[in-house]
Amino acid sequence: MKPRSSRAIKIAILPGDGIGPDVINATIPVLDAIQNVVKGLKLEYVFGEAGLNCIPKYGTNLPEKTIECLKSVDCCLKGPLTTPEEPGSPRSAAVKIRTMFDLYVNLRPLKSRPNVHSLKPDINMVIVRENTEGLYSGIEFMSGKDSAIAIRLITRKCCERIARFAFDLSMKRKKHVTYVHKGNILKITDELFKDSVLKVAKEFPEVRVDELRVDAAAMSLIKRPESFDVIVTTNLFGDILSDEGAQLVGGLGVAPGANIGEKYAMFEPIHGSAPKYTGLDKANPIATILSTKLMFEWLGFKKAADKVERAVETVLREGRVLTFDISLPNVKFAKCSETGKEIARQILQS
Ligand code: NAD
Repeated sequence: MKPRSSRAIKIAILPGDGIGPDVINATIPVLDAIQNVVKGLKLEYVFGEAGLNCIPKYGTNLPEKTIECLKSVDCCLKGPLTTPEEPGSPRSAAVKIRTMFDLYVNLRPLKSRPNVHSLKPDINMVIVRENTEGLYSGIEFMSGKDSAIAIRLITRKCCERIARFAFDLSMKRKKHVTYVHKGNILKITDELFKDSVLKVAKEFPEVRVDELRVDAAAMSLIKRPESFDVIVTTNLFGDILSDEGAQLVGGLGVAPGANIGEKYAMFEPIHGSAPKYTGLDKANPIATILSTKLMFEWLGFKKAADKVERAVETVLREGRVLTFDISLPNVKFAKCSETGKEIARQILQS
């Protein structure tokens, strides 16, 4: 997307459930700071409601007025939402937003950072997860009293467009794509996925292409994580592998995410609402703050994106103001809000 410096960029902010309000509140000073130091960048925040907290009030986890708000803005920054699990309960609001706005890319960068425990020092990969179909298609039913079926919907259109995004991205990185599937068992759906990826690969002759079955990929992420550049895979495999991948580089507290479509995008940490830390001002806001780096890249404000990442890395390197999950030995851990303010302070000094 091109920079739009002539007017304020409207961002819908959905704090969400559990630790969502804490990590979002810690991110606001970072957004405020970045506008102070990047010329031509003006942001307008439009707060909205979504998640389990909405159900008693609106009878739904994604109220109509939130949908209208999302439609009226340039992009969305979202905290995690708690998903009700009982049969018959509403579908995940995050999944509803992804499908409603056709945000077909779920982008999950995983990178070793200073002072954060990482399985290897040089991990730098991106998981590109298909975000609109697969086992998330929401087609599930009882097929008998004691049997149930979930449909794994796979289409050539969605496979080709996610593959094209992954190959395009790899051209700006190390030109290496690994596609992950379970074609030995899912002989029809994953054959279609494989065939689509290989068709797109022909458009990118400079890119090295590898394939892995998902079980081998789960193992290889631990064994040789530094060898991956871009991983492209279907929805559920990408979800699982990216939580595993987050653990390789310091945990869910530092793993950002983006949901990207043709004209719209939603940015969110990959973690969930971690209900046990609700209201404690304890969770790590860095995953959410790094998600704003992805947001600024998508908006075309590369300078703002770089400043956010540099400020995060400075705070990590200094090691004085880190939350419990990544705090250094013998250093008192910081609150979520303190970490956000410290990153904002670094931005203002930059
Ligand atoms: P979770 O990601 O919320 O938490 C798992 C554990 O990871 C936590 O108990 C905590 O120890 C750690 N953790 C997560 N985020 C952290 C942070 N910022 N700082 C420090 N530690 C952190 O996973 P869960 O407990 O399986 O899910 C809770 C709820 O969140 C569920 O209802 C789930 O459906 C939902 N969820 C929502 C999204 C989303 O909105 N996109 C994504 C994943 C899960």
